[in-house]
Formats: sequence, structure tokens, C-alpha cells
Amino acid sequence: MATKPITKLSKKQVKALSDQLLQQPKSVWEQAGAKERKEIFALAERYKTFLDQAKTERLAVETIRRLAVAQGFKPLGKKSKAGRYYAEFAGKTIALAVLGQKPVAQGIRLVGSHIDAPRLDLKMQPLYENQEMVFLKTQYYGGIKKYHWFARPLAIYGVVCTAQGKTVPIALGDAPGDPIFTVLDLLPHLSRKSQEGKKLSEAFEAERMNVLIGGLPLDADEGKEKAKLAILKLLHDRYGIAEADFISAELEIVPAGCARDVGLDRALIGAYGQDDRASAFATLEALLTMDQPPVTALGLFVDKEEIGSDGSTSARSRWIERLVAQLMEAAGEKPDFLSVSQALAQSQALSADVNAGLDPDYPEVHERRNAALMGYGVTLTKYTGSGGKYSASDANAEYVAWLRGVWDSAGVPWQAASMGKVDEGGGGTIAKLLAVYGMDVVDVGPALLSMHSPLEIAHKADIHATVRAYRAFYQAPAR
Ligand code: MN
Ligand code: MN
Repeated sequence: MATKPITKLSKKQVKALSDQLLQQPKSVWEQAGAKERKEIFALAERYKTFLDQAKTERLAVETIRRLAVAQGFKPLGKKSKAGRYYAEFAGKTIALAVLGQKPVAQGIRLVGSHIDAPRLDLKMQPLYENQEMVFLKTQYYGGIKKYHWFARPLAIYGVVCTAQGKTVPIALGDAPGDPIFTVLDLLPHLSRKSQEGKKLSEAFEAERMNVLIGGLPLDADEGKEKAKLAILKLLHDRYGIAEADFISAELEIVPAGCARDVGLDRALIGAYGQDDRASAFATLEALLTMDQPPVTALGLFVDKEEIGSDGSTSARSRWIERLVAQLMEAAGEKPDFLSVSQALAQSQALSADVNAGLDPDYPEVHERRNAALMGYGVTLTKYTGSGGKYSASDANAEYVAWLRGVWDSAGVPWQAASMGKVDEGGGGTIAKLLAVYGMDVVDVGPALLSMHSPLEIAHKADIHATVRAYRAFYQAPAR
């Protein structure tokens, strides 16, 4: 039998074949028309305001609740005609829900983000005086590069709870006219041995990360530590608190200053805490104005992700089971154990978290074919983990395929990427904590540069694409 003669393809045929078979990444800007460009920049303005108002998990909960209440969301447990609810736990985690057309017992659509971010926490007994200056001892929270926190303007947020049952909110460093605080760094003239000759991990020590908060001693002849006492008097006059009250406080040191546009063309946003308040904001945008979706939509905004998701306000908390039970009650369904378990197991989830964008200055840590490109839309990460997929939540192929279809039919700009080269490092998200219920879950969020730094960088187009991706997920017809 004769073999078929090889025919040379024309240029047109090659193009047709390429269009049919090749994956061709496109930046959002290549696809966006004038109207969408305008929307992208308008959304970025709301995003920056959200970041400025939500600098800690407690403030994020307050901001999310305020925006939800303004859109008619009611506390879960009360009556809501429109089926729009919110619920919160311990002031540090919050959920928004919109009841869908299908019974809750048949599953929900969940987008879970985290609202905590790396920072410095105060120790229980933080206050001391040295050289007539007053400092606060800190313990870092989450994965920071310690050197980022020296010699920069800092703000203090949180609460102090007194034994008399008062909770005093503290917010210092961002309001106009506020003082700022700082961790001292050594001058280059004298740091040759203390810092420059050392490994990065040893050059900046946690116990030297003390926050300068004062230096004006009491005007008195008698007494020791008069600068510390003066600061305590100031705190007492203003807030009614004493030194022992720091033991029952949650005070967080975060970068001072607000979210800013980056670049002459203002294409990017620079701000603290975009991991993962970018995803939290996008979830909020998708949910706030949503009418009754096909399937009950839940937005979960959790705490403690950056330190391993342990504790009652984290994604590992059983709160999610109670939430689903309460949602069934709100929908007039009977929330027995089996129904709640089945609802969770038949649910679909997005673990809404950021990924690392390809950094042009450090291309060697990325694997180009599988790296997230800034401005190329929301990033889907099928699995996270490290090394040999250790500790990964690996999404089912069937689920990823369904999601691709949802996005493609809604015209969402998206890309698939993992974080870094295989043995370069790695990390996890809350995906595996949702997967334990049997629900389908995959990581989806925008890419960031300078992640976990005081000035994380996001692309405005990617934030917009993330909102569109979450919205399309919520609004897709029941599977
Ligand atoms: Mn994160
Ligand atoms: Mn993180």
C-alpha cells in the first residue's frame, strides 16, 4: 500500500491549525475595549479604598459587614426576603451568602479567601524603656522577610480588652496628623559586622524588631523609667488602659500609608495586604450586587491563613459546617447531620488566593511555561504544595474542565500557573481544608509581585479579571 503523499501546508492553513490547537496567552489589554478599560480603572479605585479600610482581619470584617448591610444583607438567623445574609465569628472571620434556586442540601458555591496578612504582633508584655526612649516588643506573624520592616513608617491597629470588660479599639498611624512608629535600623557606616557579613536570615533578628513609640520623660525629679511612665499616662488619659492590659490585647503593627497607583500609566497597584485581600475584595464585588443565583453562593473570609489556618477563626474551624446548617434553616430545609454533610460534599469551591507573578528580575525561580504573567487575567492553580506535590490539594480534572468552560463562555481572561520551579520552594492555601468535606475545590486568584512584602504589587487588569471569574463561577448554571 502506498503512503499518503506529504502535502506542504500553506501559511493560512498553519494559522488555522494554530488557532485550533495551540494555547495562545493574551494579555487583558489586548482583549479589552474602551468600556472595559474604563471599568478596570474604576474598579481599582474601589479596591484601593477597600485595602485602606481593611488593614487587619478585624477591620476587614467591619468593612465587609458595612458594605454588605448597605446592600441589604441581614444577619443569618434573622429574616431576609431577598435571601441575603451575613454571619461573623469572633470579629475576625465573616461570611456572606445569597440563597440560590436549588436547595442548599444539593450543594453550594463557595469562594473562600483570607483576610489576615503577614505583620508584626505585639508581645504580651511589650512596653519598655531604653536610653530614655520607649519601645514595644514584637513577634512576627506569618512569612515575612524581616529586613522589610526596619526603617519604615508603621501604624498600630487592634483592640485592648480590660479586665473591667471594656474593648478599646486602637488605630494610630494612618489618620491625617497621626504620628507613625518605626523599627530602627543600623547605619551602613557601622553595620559591617552586625549585618553585612551575615547571611540574610541572620542579619536581621526578630528580637531587634522593637517599635519606637516615644521619648519624652515625665517632668519630675523622682522616679525611674520616666519616659515609659509618660507613655503609659498618655495611653491611660486617651484610652483608659494600663500596662497589664497589653496582656489581653491584639495589637498589630502594619505599614503606614495607603494603597497607591504604581507607574506613570497607573497600570498597577502597590499596597500592603493584597495577599489575600485582593481575592477578598473580588469575592465581595461578585457577591454584593448578586440577585438570586442558580446555586446558593457563599463568600467565606477567614483569618489565620498566614500561620497555618489553626484556631477557631481559621478555615480549619468547624464554623463552616454550622454556617451551612444555618443556611439550610434560612432556606426552610432541615439541617440534620447527613444533609449538611451531603451539602458540603456536593459543593463547588474556589480557594481564592493570590499566586506569584513572574518577576522579570528573578526569572530563575520561575518555570516560564507554568508561571503567572502580570496582566494576563486571573490565575488558576490546579495544585499547590512543594517538592513532590507535598501537602497539595490537587483539583479534580473534571472540575477544572467544568470551570474552564464556565470562564470561556463568560469571556473571562484567565491563565493557568503554578508557583515557581518545582524544588524552589512552595506554599499552600485553604484549598485542602475545604477539600476534606469532599467538595470540589481549586485555587483561583490574581498574581502579585513582591508578595508578602509591605508593598505588594497587583495588576489592575488582573483584579478586574478576578472579579469576573468569581462572578461567572457563582452565576454558572447548576452542574
Ligand atoms: Mn494567601
Ligand atoms: Mn500569604
